[in-house]
Amino acid sequence: MISQLFDLTGKTAIVTGCNTGLGQGMALSLAGAGCNIVAVNRRSAEETQQHVEAHGVEFLAVDADLTSTVPIDDILAQTEARFGGADILVNNAGTIRRADSLEFTEQDWDDVLDVNLKSLFFLAQGFARACIDKQRNGKIINIASMLSFQGGVRVPSYTASKSGVLGLTRLMANEWAAHGININAIAPGYMATNNTEALRNDPHRSQEILGRIPAGRWGSPEDLSGAAVFLASAASDYVNGHALAVDGGWLAR
Ligand code: NAD
Repeated sequence: MISQLFDLTGKTAIVTGCNTGLGQGMALSLAGAGCNIVAVNRRSAEETQQHVEAHGVEFLAVDADLTSTVPIDDILAQTEARFGGADILVNNAGTIRRADSLEFTEQDWDDVLDVNLKSLFFLAQGFARACIDKQRNGKIINIASMLSFQGGVRVPSYTASKSGVLGLTRLMANEWAAHGININAIAPGYMATNNTEALRNDPHRSQEILGRIPAGRWGSPEDLSGAAVFLASAASDYVNGHALAVDGGWLAR
């Protein structure tokens, strides 16, 4: 049955940054497909917990600030203790700083690169090591961006990090695909979350962006549901190192 290809019953996914926004949307869609959720957050994820548990699956909250790699061992240890390990990792936590490149500070560079790229890599490394040790298949979904493909303006550290996410997705796929680990990325377009609040509040930028989206609207967290379940499930077993744009057609323009 084709629906079995997308079934995640009995699987466990670690989802970073899922108290809100796109991470919350993806956690709920994975839970809806039967997956237990390990929610890694700086802040309380109570709302996500309620919605996840409503699907009849289990939820484990792990507190972690991914500005540093220090919490990574604990994330993996707690996952191991509660669920015997994870099958899926969604590297979603991300941050952004906006300023003209001529004024951009080293702090705004480090803050973004540390979360969006460094912690993403080392969490993926820890997850992959655990999969290989146990001879268990794995799925890694890295959250990329339109700025994995384009330059953007006033977001130099974000562009560097998201371009790096696309490169690392390909590198990890090259090295780990033979171990039964699929590494792919989702590249969301312009989605209505905290991340784009400043853009949506600027009437000029908002109009400029909307005018280029063939679908004619900002995306929503629910728009990532199908892509997340696909890349987390057996349906994508021969998909490696791919970046799936969910962008209402932005890149096609
Ligand atoms: P958001 O700001 O609502 O969510 C970001 C999440 O990351 C939150 O849960 C936040 O707490 C978490 N996070 C940030 N810094 C962290 C840290 N130091 N430690 C732990 N968690 C941390 O924005 P969003 O749009 O839902 O963003 C989710 C992901 O999608 C990010 O990687 C973002 O770059 C990416 N993205 C968003 C858009 C968009 O248009 N909204 C487009 C492309 C990519």
